[in-house]
Amino acid sequence: MAAENIRHWRVGAVEIARIVEVNAFEDDIAMLLPGATPQFVQQFPWLVPHFATPDGKMILSFQAFVLRSMGKTVMIDTCIGAEREREYEVFCNLQTSFLEDLTAAGFPPEEVSAVLCTHLHFDHVGWNTRKVDGKWVPTFPQARYLFGKQEWAHWKHLRDTHGYHDLAHLADSIDPVMEAGLVDFIGPEHRLTDEVSLISTPGHTPGHVSVHIRSQGQEAIITGDMMHHPIQLAVPETHANFDMDKAQGAATRRSFVERFSGSGALVIGSHFSDPSAGHIVPDGSAWKLKVEN
Ligand SMILES: [Zn+2]
Repeated sequence: MAAENIRHWRVGAVEIARIVEVNAFEDDIAMLLPGATPQFVQQFPWLVPHFATPDGKMILSFQAFVLRSMGKTVMIDTCIGAEREREYEVFCNLQTSFLEDLTAAGFPPEEVSAVLCTHLHFDHVGWNTRKVDGKWVPTFPQARYLFGKQEWAHWKHLRDTHGYHDLAHLADSIDPVMEAGLVDFIGPEHRLTDEVSLISTPGHTPGHVSVHIRSQGQEAIITGDMMHHPIQLAVPETHANFDMDKAQGAATRRSFVERFSGSGALVIGSHFSDPSAGHIVPDGSAWKLKVEN
């Protein structure tokens, strides 16, 4: 168990926890924003120390969330997973305390009643499964797995057409839960509970959704990969390398930022490094993330 992996929030009556799998990964901003330099990052001193290094590298984490609302326990994405072969070394053959951390956070895996994947990239579906006796089996066999109808159609199309994207994760993280009959295909109008609904945030992938929590007058959003890093609040319309449809991703970010700036809603970023959350506030002619600690 690693206490620093876990963070808790309460939004009205909804309890939320974060479980980190790869913490505070430093990389060049050009990985995310094409052509951007460390000097560009340094124009936004509010990013230091949580989200950028003083020398202008971005800091990202890979993490999942779990929430409890009205008697339901829902995983929001499932991170990278153990024992995987992936495109990049940093994600291969991880051995982490993810499932133990889930229990330590107060959400034992056997209590999970639903798994919602914001989209179907490898770093959001990994713990859908785990390896038992050399076979991939559902980690949460008692849960329904909720995948976007349109999202799955796109990945299926990529596989059928030998598309441009690395698809290794479909075989170990998606197919086994489909074969077990645990998947429900949903649209963005789906509600997880009366307190937890979805917001359609396409661009990063075609069927991408963010999670909208509203309870007792309080509000939070779990972004998914609609944005990866808080610097995107300063430049929401700059195209991002990781988005499948870059113009759509930019438009989605811009309208999201305008909708929630100054709203008091807690914005929990799926790749924002610790403390992983804050409030969107105006910053000159753009916006920034204001963190509480
Ligand atoms: Zn991601």
